[in-house]
Amino acid sequence: MQPCWITRFHAAALTLSCLLCCGCDAATQDFRHQIYAFGTLVTIDFFATTPQSNAAAIAAIEARIRDIDRDWYPWREYPDEPQGELQRINAAIAAGQAIEVSPLLAELVRRAAVLEQLSGGRFNPAMGRLTELWGFHDVARLRSSPPDEVEIRKWLSASVSSDSLEWSGNELRSNSPYVMLDLGGIAKGSILEQFVSILRDAGVENAIIDIGGDLTVLGHINGRPARIGIRSPRSDDTLAWLDVMDGETVVTSGDYERFFEVGGRRYQHILDPRNGYPVEHTISATVLHQDPVLADAAATALLVAGPGAFEELCAVLGVDEALIVSASGDLRLTQAMEKRLNWPNR
Ligand code: ADP
Ligand code: MG
Repeated sequence: MQPCWITRFHAAALTLSCLLCCGCDAATQDFRHQIYAFGTLVTIDFFATTPQSNAAAIAAIEARIRDIDRDWYPWREYPDEPQGELQRINAAIAAGQAIEVSPLLAELVRRAAVLEQLSGGRFNPAMGRLTELWGFHDVARLRSSPPDEVEIRKWLSASVSSDSLEWSGNELRSNSPYVMLDLGGIAKGSILEQFVSILRDAGVENAIIDIGGDLTVLGHINGRPARIGIRSPRSDDTLAWLDVMDGETVVTSGDYERFFEVGGRRYQHILDPRNGYPVEHTISATVLHQDPVLADAAATALLVAGPGAFEELCAVLGVDEALIVSASGDLRLTQAMEKRLNWPNR
């Protein structure tokens, strides 16, 4: 079981690099670099690139990981460590104070607020306190029972939403002290987007960036699109596979990433902010899109929506290619996604 993205990156953590092939032309090579970050494995496969480009890209990506890890994480791992930017923002919101937000984070929070609106509140970037109530913020251990229903009702009655955020330029405040920004459902999309521009700036034209199974393809692999498998939510098998083109992102949200079980009932880390409980009707949601930020938030929102609102939400979000798997194992997919997928068992 993997913890959610937001687990901390440890500078001394695993960093692996290896040469994948030497059969390319003399000046270029295929190369894999892996970093343990955000509680998951980040894998960057470089295709037919030069060692100079790889080295420049890896150095810039590792520096960006350190910044994001410090500044986009809502919870402090150790009580004595200095607060990162999102922790300072949440502290200011809780105290009813205004705070200046750096441009990149401000843009992501604004984007997340729009997606909350579009998703009808199924995606909610302000629900950090609900995540906390359920204990999914605690990377070291999971709860062994659900939280008190009274606490959940109390949270619900505060109608927590990013609608309460007020911006004056990049200065942010909220009129609700219950708002706690948790960008765990959208951050990986933005990180993919940032890594793509880092790779491009370093002169890397062909690569796959994979953050714990959410990935973006840059260019092509020896003249072909990248062949990517979508994981079956209840086994390590491939549910289906597809060819992913230059600039496309595939994101999957699943109930197998982080959860606890009590009496055979699974309580997973994706919560329905409209009722305060973990989603049970749907166990995975996959979105393919050119926009990684939209893909990430949409996968979370579609998992919360489930089969009942699948088509409607895809249309509202502007997602053409999506697939969900319900708890009973039924698949629901858009026509465009159906055309893209190949099934191993058919
Ligand atoms: P994963 O981290 O497995 O890729 P998601 O992108 O769906 O999955 O992100 C899950 C994380 O997003 C949770 O750990 C929590 O921090 C946050 N989250 C949970 N439910 C929601 C929701 N309904 N809306 C927005 N964020 C959520
Ligand atoms: Mg998401």
